[in-house]
Amino acid sequence: RAKRDGRGIHCFFEAALDQRLMQRRTLERDLRMAIERGELHLAYQPQCDTRTREMVSAEALLRWNHPQRGAVSPAEFVPLAEESGFIRPLGRWVLETACAEAAKWPIPCRVAVNISPAQFRQPDLLAVIAQVLERSGLPPQRLKMEVTEGLLIGETERALTLLRALKDMGIALSLDDFGTGYSSLSYLRRFPFDEIKIDQSFVRGLGQDVESAAIVEAVLALSRSLGMIVVAEGVETEQQLEILRSRNCPRVQGYLLGRPVPSADLFRSRSAELVPEAVSQPAAPA
Ligand code: C2E
Ligand code: MG
Ligand code: MG
Ligand code: MG
Repeated sequence: RAKRDGRGIHCFFEAALDQRLMQRRTLERDLRMAIERGELHLAYQPQCDTRTREMVSAEALLRWNHPQRGAVSPAEFVPLAEESGFIRPLGRWVLETACAEAAKWPIPCRVAVNISPAQFRQPDLLAVIAQVLERSGLPPQRLKMEVTEGLLIGETERALTLLRALKDMGIALSLDDFGTGYSSLSYLRRFPFDEIKIDQSFVRGLGQDVESAAIVEAVLALSRSLGMIVVAEGVETEQQLEILRSRNCPRVQGYLLGRPVPSADLFRSRSAELVPEAVSQPAAPA
């Protein structure tokens, strides 16, 4: 019946589309209120030295606890915020919160903050970052910015100027999700990245298919000759870690080394590894 009644099908899709649009608008509206209502927080995931497993930095990941829907994934609401322009106040909140929390950490680890393309196009981004750093008291050397290739396409001149300015401030630059986008190798030559993050899709294939291992090896070789650090994302198994260690991949991040946790738990859960004596010794004054 559906096949004959083309109109019915059409209406069905239209209704479904309307519903999706409605849901989007509702979510967007809720997101605007989420900051004021305290529904957002940051979770931090350790980025570790591959050999010692010691945490050297941590990535700030946005979390939204929606009053009705529960945990909403950033993979869902960050793109929405990007399209609506709300990413700017949201991104500022992330930056302020990450810097303020990292300034209180017991160990001067770096904090990595994700910056989306729309935020990057914000004309006063540099001023905002400088202001946030100053207010939080976090030295710029303790901040790292993770950007994706999408940001480098098109506006290359402006992007280059901005990235250089950030680097001059002492902020480290990381190229996120490497290998998934356009991956023009010329980006690595043109832009002053300190670090490349190999996307988790390649890490997942380690020990499974030869192609993933070949790509990981190639990125490692490339980064070595360009003087960049590599972080392998999404390390979940000892086998993956072992392969990365045997290939001299300097840094790893993933559930195996630590899941994203609130700032207060980041050092608590890892205290035994950071300070081996911590368990048997009384806590040192802060
Ligand atoms: P991303 O920057 O590539 O972050 C890595 C994602 O992989 C995170 O997902 C993290 O929780 C997840 N992950 C880490 N280790 C593992 C693992 O071993 N296995 C698996 N399966 N996943 C792992 P999350 O937190 O859901 O974030 C998704 C994306 O949302 C991020 O990808 C980033 O693009 C975006 N995002 C998150 N927070 C922010 C933010 O504050 N600002 C902006 N602009 N984007 C953000
Ligand atoms: Mg990231
Ligand atoms: Mg990534
Ligand atoms: Mg990603």
